[in-house]
Amino acid sequence: MGRIQLHGITRSFAGTEVIHGVDLAVEDGELVVFVGPSGCGKSTLLRLIAGLDRPTTGRVEIDGRDVTRVSAADRGLAMVFQSYALYPHMTVRQNLSFGLENTRMPKAEIAARVDEAARMLEIGELLSRRPTQLSGGQRQRVAIGRAIVREPLAFLLDEPLSNLDAELRVSMRAELAALHDRLGTTMIYVTHDQVEAMTLADRIVVLRAGRVEQVDTPLGLFNRPGNLFVAGFIGAPN
Ligand code: ADP
Ligand code: MG
Repeated sequence: MGRIQLHGITRSFAGTEVIHGVDLAVEDGELVVFVGPSGCGKSTLLRLIAGLDRPTTGRVEIDGRDVTRVSAADRGLAMVFQSYALYPHMTVRQNLSFGLENTRMPKAEIAARVDEAARMLEIGELLSRRPTQLSGGQRQRVAIGRAIVREPLAFLLDEPLSNLDAELRVSMRAELAALHDRLGTTMIYVTHDQVEAMTLADRIVVLRAGRVEQVDTPLGLFNRPGNLFVAGFIGAPN
């Protein structure tokens, strides 16, 4: 499973509210994209879903369980950030297996998961390299691989491709879509890029200044934008 529900989420920093009451349900297996301009609250919302931060009011539930009441290891969520945060002193294989080594998982199972993820992401040849010996696209594949080996209930991706050049971004986007089709795992993908949102999403959540403006399929948003902001944001490349 991997159903994610947000109930009346607000978040204030030093008395200033930046998330103003978000309700949302992401169904098991869906690929939902949060899109909106810089500063609208996408990362804050994703961190709340990940349980890395607590809402000021409201509740996040994963398969009906309040995330703040579940330990990080049991939440079943894997987050991928825009800065890949690979360990520079470790090989690719060590980077991929590190997160599983503190669990009770047998070494053979860890190795099998790493090999499978590496095969899927076509980084099998790179397992003995270190991050500095990789291109940007290869590093990002390793970062995604680290999430895959955990076999999470859901992937949470925060602008994972924004450090890559335009061409690579397009091909990695296609790879992520293929990966989602193949794994069928719930994904929440955050981006400020409406083209990315339109091409990837089952459903798009348009955010503006800490509020949900509209939730719909890409086609639905395109054909029936609820207001001028959505029409302008979806229609015009920035
Ligand atoms: P986005 O990811 O859409 O660019 P963020 O979620 O990073 O937006 O930020 C939303 C708003 O919350 C911004 O105004 C930002 O300055 C504010 N904010 C985010 N995190 C903090 C924090 N830890 N302390 C204070 N303000 C924050
Ligand atoms: Mg952000």
